[in-house]
Amino acid sequence: MVNDSTNHPRPCTDSSYPRQRTVVERMAMAIALCSERGVKLTPLRQKVLELLWESGRPTGAYEIIEALKTGSDRPIAPPSVYRALDFLISEGFVSKIESRNAYVACMHPERQSDCIFLICDECGSSVELEDRRVKQLLEEEAAKRRFRVCKPVVELEGTCRRCIEANPT
Ligand SMILES: [Zn+2]
Repeated sequence: MVNDSTNHPRPCTDSSYPRQRTVVERMAMAIALCSERGVKLTPLRQKVLELLWESGRPTGAYEIIEALKTGSDRPIAPPSVYRALDFLISEGFVSKIESRNAYVACMHPERQSDCIFLICDECGSSVELEDRRVKQLLEEEAAKRRFRVCKPVVELEGTCRRCIEANPT
């Protein structure tokens, strides 16, 4: 058995991934990726992505629109925010958490990771995990059924460690 880190699920906030720890570094990476791909990370797309990174938890579109309003004196058109979110999702920078109807930014924009989220019911925080075993298993099972996956997002709801420790039963 190779004790390879790819065999172990790990939170993307893990400090063993020292790259792009700050929002500024992550944004620089996202901009570079977009220019490589020939797409544009417009100021609105950047602002939405930045807000999601700063929030660090699944955030609803309405909340994003409100936050954009406070940071700007120009009116924000909700459809353009939805279009920006669609773009960020298609580039793999953001995932939609269907159970919350909310959006969360991926911690490592350069990695097309499978999106496994642990979502806390108490505080609303989310942690993103990467685990190739889960990805592989899901791909195999889908392929067996000739099912074409377009949105491989796995959501686990429960209580985070912080909330458990704050409220032991
Ligand atoms: Zn919690």
